[in-house]
Amino acid sequence: MKYNVLGRTGFKVSEIGLGGEYLEGKPASLVNDVVSAAMDGGVNILDCFMSNPDVRSNLGTALKGRRDRMYIQGHLRSVWKDGQYGRTMDMDEVRFFFKDFLDRFQTDYVDIGIIHLIDNPQDYDRIFDGPILEYALKLKELGVIRSLGISSHNPVQALRAAKSGVIDMMLFSINPAYDVMDENAPRPKKLDSEFFNDIEVAGVNSVREELYSYCEANGIGITVMKTLAAGALLDARTSPFGAALTVPQCIHYALTRPGVASVLLGMQSVEQVADCLSYESLDDGEKDYSFIFSKAPKFSMNGRCVYCNHCLPCSAHIDIAQVNKYLDMACLDDTPMATLKEHYHALEHNADECIACHACESRCPFGVDIVQRMMKAREMFR
Ligand code: SF4
Ligand code: SF4
Repeated sequence: MKYNVLGRTGFKVSEIGLGGEYLEGKPASLVNDVVSAAMDGGVNILDCFMSNPDVRSNLGTALKGRRDRMYIQGHLRSVWKDGQYGRTMDMDEVRFFFKDFLDRFQTDYVDIGIIHLIDNPQDYDRIFDGPILEYALKLKELGVIRSLGISSHNPVQALRAAKSGVIDMMLFSINPAYDVMDENAPRPKKLDSEFFNDIEVAGVNSVREELYSYCEANGIGITVMKTLAAGALLDARTSPFGAALTVPQCIHYALTRPGVASVLLGMQSVEQVADCLSYESLDDGEKDYSFIFSKAPKFSMNGRCVYCNHCLPCSAHIDIAQVNKYLDMACLDDTPMATLKEHYHALEHNADECIACHACESRCPFGVDIVQRMMKAREMFR
């Protein structure tokens, strides 16, 4: 298992994490088996946004005696009413269901306290200018939550949160289909082959690109949800790109976005845990997702890097995607250049070593002028 630092939290989290969603309604013994199989495979981060009391209790029991080996993402304002999940702004309910979370998990802290689902400006304002943020910050001061994050599907609100300076990480929905959506488009109920019909020319949305780069440059770690777009990307009939991706290709897409430390996958059986963990033993070719962009109708990433590393091997052993990521980050406003330069110079091989052989360029499906970008990186990080 590979581990990545989750931004300024400093937590070294497994790049594959466990999303608890599909364990709701499952017997305690199965929950225990799934948690055990995941932890045996090196998973050390778990998300539980669910307010269902049974799944909280089952996860808490499964972690008994090994809770300190799992980074838990626990959500504030996720509630259970009339036998159903819901969200609240009511402070009494926020407090009650957070205490319920701690009790059922048999713990007195969560590693990552997430303010749950901020998807529109009204919710953002009520939360960030009101008692929920105040409460979350107090919990952090007391050590009851060790770091603070938000969850969101909306890149505009997520970017506002990132720039607020108060969060350490975020749980965000990332997959190639969402990434080409306009930042203001509502999250689609389902994806299908009609997806591109109303889009003139698509490319990765610039606000989403800015969000990921801003997060990486400013130490805000990202954990990922909706990696498989509820399975729509795995079937050519429903994939908007007209081609099916595999689970590892979807995982790799998310993990190669700037700022991303861990992809949280819903696993509901020991076999599914094994499938998800098989990502760790695949070679780069089996994880390569770049072909979907060239198959998509009306899609253009001409000249823009999607960080796929399809262009490797490099004659000078440069991680071309990583250098391109740093270069894109350097071009943003507000980027702390000193830190970025440090990261760039920590690479085993960097653009300074490019011999301009052009061997990589014919392998890039998006026509990126790699040599010119290596020269630019060399200048910027000098
Ligand atoms: S330069 Fe092209 S092939 Fe290389 S990482 Fe970027 S998009 Fe992929
Ligand atoms: S042109 Fe530069 S980056 Fe591309 S393969 Fe040659 S040395 Fe590597």
